[in-house]
Amino acid sequence: MGVHTQLEGAWAHISTTYKPGMIEFMGSVFGQVIGFIVPATVYLMIDTLFPKFSQRHKIQGARRQPKPQQIRHCVVICLSNHAWLATLHFLSHYMTDFNHSYLEMAPTLPSLTTFVADFLFGLLAREVLFYYVHRALHHPRIYVYIHKMHHKYITPVAFAAEYAHPVEHLFANVLPITLPLYLKGTHFLSFLAFSIFELWEAAADHSGYDFLKLPPAELHDLHHEKFRVNYGTIGLMDWIHGTNVVGWDRRG
Ligand SMILES: [Zn+2]
Ligand SMILES: [Zn+2]
Repeated sequence: MGVHTQLEGAWAHISTTYKPGMIEFMGSVFGQVIGFIVPATVYLMIDTLFPKFSQRHKIQGARRQPKPQQIRHCVVICLSNHAWLATLHFLSHYMTDFNHSYLEMAPTLPSLTTFVADFLFGLLAREVLFYYVHRALHHPRIYVYIHKMHHKYITPVAFAAEYAHPVEHLFANVLPITLPLYLKGTHFLSFLAFSIFELWEAAADHSGYDFLKLPPAELHDLHHEKFRVNYGTIGLMDWIHGTNVVGWDRRG
């Protein structure tokens, strides 16, 4: 039996057995663990397990790396952001007895064409939304109250992706990924795959390592170092607005 047939059978069972709100909530927790918490932990362990490889691939120099207690603090805040948002998500479905979801829960799998179209739509929509929300967060009247917290880590580690003020976490991290696909009524499985990809991408962008060229972590790493460059996620909006910069003025 092929993987496609197995997946089709498993999804048909899940979608006809559990309520849509419960599938959406459990899927979101699963996505956060698989897409973010596991990869962020792996990135964090590279330094201990493979110190030579780690030194070779760190984007910024050893002197600039955060101390262990700063990393612990970062992990705690990041996990608390996950926890309060998951609680809010759970309560919103609890109030409707888990009978509702904006995502498509049909027992069939989405076609490959629909999957690719939704993925590209999500990618572009996130880039546009995140870029403008992020630029707004850099406005001098807003920056100190909200976004300054995310910029505490000039040399980021993967967990720093979600080291953020709760308002920022909702408007910059969560809604640009979820809202466009929710409004479009995307199939649950397409949404799950897309959100896992985007969460991993955020962890990789903040990992501090350059060994993967896609996503190019140097771009967002440089945003943490220099602040007023590379606001977006895939480089498109930075290219349009002339805020794209690759590696100038970097010292070790
Ligand atoms: Zn960042
Ligand atoms: Zn910023």
